[in-house]
Amino acid sequence: MEIINYTEEHHQFRKRLQGFLEKEVTPFAEQWEQDRIVPRSIWSKMGQAGFLCTDVPPQYGGLGGDFFYSVIVAEELSKTPQSGLAATLHSDIVVPYIAKFGSEELKQKYLPGCVSGEIVTALAMTEPDAGSDLAGIKTAAVEEGDQVVIDGSKTFISNGILADLVVVAARDPAIDDPYQALSLYVVESDTPGFSRGRHLEKMGMWSQDTAELFFTKCRIPIQNRLGEKGVGFLQLMEKLQPERLVCAVAAIAGAERILEWTMDHCKNTTVSGKALSKSQAVQFALVEMAADVKIGRTFVDKLVADHAEGNNVVIETSMAKFWTTDLLNRVANQALDLCGDFGMLEKCPMVRAWRDAKVTTIFAGTNEIMKGIVAKFMGM
Ligand SMILES: Cc1cc2nc3c(=O)[nH]c(=O)nc-3n(C[C@H](O)[C@H](O)[C@H](O)COP(=O)(O)OP(=O)(O)OC[C@H]3O[C@@H](n4cnc5c(N)ncnc54)[C@H](O)[C@@H]3O)c2cc1C
Repeated sequence: MEIINYTEEHHQFRKRLQGFLEKEVTPFAEQWEQDRIVPRSIWSKMGQAGFLCTDVPPQYGGLGGDFFYSVIVAEELSKTPQSGLAATLHSDIVVPYIAKFGSEELKQKYLPGCVSGEIVTALAMTEPDAGSDLAGIKTAAVEEGDQVVIDGSKTFISNGILADLVVVAARDPAIDDPYQALSLYVVESDTPGFSRGRHLEKMGMWSQDTAELFFTKCRIPIQNRLGEKGVGFLQLMEKLQPERLVCAVAAIAGAERILEWTMDHCKNTTVSGKALSKSQAVQFALVEMAADVKIGRTFVDKLVADHAEGNNVVIETSMAKFWTTDLLNRVANQALDLCGDFGMLEKCPMVRAWRDAKVTTIFAGTNEIMKGIVAKFMGM
């Protein structure tokens, strides 16, 4: 029995998306990898085809769809041989801050462009000295009359090079308590005082642009603050949960893709005249992978269904983020082992899958931080 009851509309949407990705993404994955970035044009193509920000209400140009549309996009993107097109980050992580906490004026100004792909977004929390511990954020936001002056720097920001709009976490330097000092601001990339630093050369996810951002006396209108002053920490805590759930969804779909590819490889590769998949040792390795993936899929689908029903799934989401991303890494590692020397060649698709898997245990809250959250909720 299916755990998620997808409707006919969901199925049709998935089919259309698969066709789109096959035509507009998969053939270019290799080029994007070499370029270390995806082209702007793919954002507008994706937006125009209706695959960005599916949950944004129709009055701002969106589909007004439920969480399952986001799940479908995350899954299908994970099945493509690239991880540079950070559409789930844009649609399910950054834009929801504007949609949920932005004023009506901000929503009207930015959401239609976010949906159409004309505006690409980024979320800037991390700083050189503040990663896991957001209480260490030093970027200052000083509110002066009807303006805010932002000073500081951010690093490891996904979409950092392409972003037109950045949601920035910054603190009032006059407030000592970090949990009361943080607010979120929307900064347009052509604002004087905003600049981009290095495009970071990463060990994986080559085609995703990850960059440093600088703010030097960067003045924005006070209307660009998201919600009340000083509630940034709470806003981040609220929205980081769905981000982690989407990470788990993407991880399990990525693991399924790796398993499928590895099964095919082992069936079609012969050693001493017989298919690799006929060796019992290989069969056991594949069966163990398949069992892990199946268990993960069942857990994640149940979690998605519970989240969609509005249930509190903080513990399970944190568990799923660390467990599925660890699983993705285990499966990618096993796949590479089964490829033998072929798995050491750049042309082996599992090499990129293995490289790209690593970062999933780090971003969106490291797996250690996830375990810390679970421990706290379990009363330890
Ligand atoms: C490719 C990539 C994309 C990213 N995209 C973004 C983005 O778009 N926006 C953004 O704001 N950030 C982004 N990040 C940053 C990411 O969120 C941070 O790397 C992450 O939060 C961890 O912070 P850190 O790297 O500073 O590690 P640290 O916090 O310095 O941690 C180092 C190690 O110590 C462990 N550790 C730290 N604190 C604890 C604790 N309390 N208990 C147990 N263990 C602990 C960590 O688990 C880790 O193993 C990205 C990072 C990468 C690599």
